[in-house]
Amino acid sequence: MQTYTYVSKGKFELMEKPKPVLMHERDAIVKVTLASICSSDLHIKHGSVPRAVPGITVGHEMVGVVEEVGSAVTNVKPGDRVTVNVETFCGECFFCKKGYVNNCTDENGGWALGCRIDGGQAEYVRVPFADQGLNKIPEGVTDRQALFVGDVLATGYWAARISEITEDDTVLIIGAGPTGICTLLCVMLKKPKRIILCEKDENRIHFINEHYPEVMTVSPEACADFVLANSDHGGADVVLEVAGAESTFRLSWECARPSAIVTIVALYEKAQLLPLPDMYGKNLTFKTGGVDGCDCKETLRLIAEGKIDTEPLITHTYPLSKIAEAYDLFENKKDGVIKVAVEC
Ligand SMILES: [Zn+2]
Ligand SMILES: [Zn+2]
Repeated sequence: MQTYTYVSKGKFELMEKPKPVLMHERDAIVKVTLASICSSDLHIKHGSVPRAVPGITVGHEMVGVVEEVGSAVTNVKPGDRVTVNVETFCGECFFCKKGYVNNCTDENGGWALGCRIDGGQAEYVRVPFADQGLNKIPEGVTDRQALFVGDVLATGYWAARISEITEDDTVLIIGAGPTGICTLLCVMLKKPKRIILCEKDENRIHFINEHYPEVMTVSPEACADFVLANSDHGGADVVLEVAGAESTFRLSWECARPSAIVTIVALYEKAQLLPLPDMYGKNLTFKTGGVDGCDCKETLRLIAEGKIDTEPLITHTYPLSKIAEAYDLFENKKDGVIKVAVEC
């Protein structure tokens, strides 16, 4: 079968590999129908994910149809349309039982698919702990509507969930990339008084203004003054930092009001300075990433009810045979791309 493979730093290649087989009684084999490219795939390509194993098939955001299940799998069966969770988790350890599945202590726990084991930019993928990692797509929900459930939407949902947002709040979201937009969609479900979205890219601002006209948008340069003028208590009640730059990290706590919650969703490429003397007396609560991706059933229900719609994020579609072109487009932010769907 065709797979998109991490060969070495800077090099991904479409490659022929044998179809995966069940290796454990809790595994499932999924025939991938639609996959997507995530910025984490680019991090692997650039060599900034040291635990990524050369030779693995990349891709950790996909949907498909269950082809085969191991003898211990009970939640899904062959023929089921499913979302695949980016995180592998056992469901039984201390952290899994508390819902902190990102810190599952199983040796395969955490981000394994498309990083340490073969992922889903391929015709088939083997999913360990299939009862945890797969969720049935409700009838009436298309593959395109469900494509982001296991990764970027899971992240946005988790970020909104832990941020303790109330209906009186002014919420500032920094960054309107795919994860920022998914975060926005999930913050909107909490019905805060105001949402301000800070973004530097004009294409993305245009996308937000077009699709979500009720959301206020602002550039990073104007952000601090704008938030001050458009909040009730001298800053945002909740800030979600989804951009991942040094300047945006600083902006996140500068724009927060005293005793605000600052949720750091972004993955930074280097350490950030937390200048405690500058924020002394501000009494901020910081919450940090990564995603505990265990709410997929709930997000699928919200999609089925029409309360979350991530389909507009798919701006381009390619066949697996042309995935290198899709990467080029996504990596170089060509043609106003937000997300790419790859038909496998
Ligand atoms: Zn991802
Ligand atoms: Zn676990």
